[in-house]
Amino acid sequence: MRYKAKSFIDLFNSLHDETSCREFLEYQRWQDEPICPHCHRQDKEHYRLKRQGLYKCKSCRKTFSVTVGTMFEGSHVPLRKWFYAIYIFLGHKKGISSTQLAKDIGVTQKTAWFMLERIRHELHGKFAVTFEDMTQVDETYVGGRIKGQVKNAQGRSLKKKVPVVGLLSDGKVQTFVTPDTSGKILKYIIRSLVKKGSTLITDRWHGYKGLNAEYEHRVINHSTGEYVKDGFHTNSIEGFWSHLKRGIMGIYHKVSRKHLFRYCDEFAFRYNTRHFTDVERFILFVMSTYKRIKYHDLIRLEY
Ligand SMILES: [Zn+2]
Repeated sequence: MRYKAKSFIDLFNSLHDETSCREFLEYQRWQDEPICPHCHRQDKEHYRLKRQGLYKCKSCRKTFSVTVGTMFEGSHVPLRKWFYAIYIFLGHKKGISSTQLAKDIGVTQKTAWFMLERIRHELHGKFAVTFEDMTQVDETYVGGRIKGQVKNAQGRSLKKKVPVVGLLSDGKVQTFVTPDTSGKILKYIIRSLVKKGSTLITDRWHGYKGLNAEYEHRVINHSTGEYVKDGFHTNSIEGFWSHLKRGIMGIYHKVSRKHLFRYCDEFAFRYNTRHFTDVERFILFVMSTYKRIKYHDLIRLEY
């Protein structure tokens, strides 16, 4: 069955119960033939078992359903509530708080929090971005200012802020929460991800020094009021930072260091799919869900 929904209402009219949600997920993940999650065979060699949505693989003899190996596996939350949460979370420019989601779908705030974290977890590293040609690289600090803390010349309190490094190329961004913004870390990230011979555009931070042999390095000197030099700039990545910070402050108020990378992934995903419709973004996400994380692992996860 193909889904041609154009809006939230269209989509949710067709996803009116658990069966329609399961069939939707089957279509998005498998198209016409089920894929066994145990041995990855996709052919007609499956039995449909009596219980709806359950299959048995003729090849490895194991049973499976469409949620095996996905973020929905073993969840007591109905798919319909998951779909609502994913749609709203990805569609709203600034996401949704767990308190609001809990009210919207009728679950506890703890469950809503866990659902949102699972969705964010799923976004981590989901769509690798290729960095070549022109790549803007910038570092920033995310977090609130604590009273009485040591401040630098700009009145910024650096101690409690968490460094984040961002790369942007061809309108796509990827972020990294890092221990610091030393040359060692910046260069490691750049050399790992940016194709040699590309043009790098950065500010004057000394951590970027020494990349000239591998890249064409363009430096923008912000301290002298320079924002565009010979057509090169870092405005796009800076625009992303301000959007990220406003979003985190406006909706989530504060984010702990160990969870910050998830919020950065969340904003990066929305940014990178900004030309998609909300329905397209939702389908893109749902068709490629494969990670599963348990509550205990999630709260234990340390950076
Ligand atoms: Zn199998």
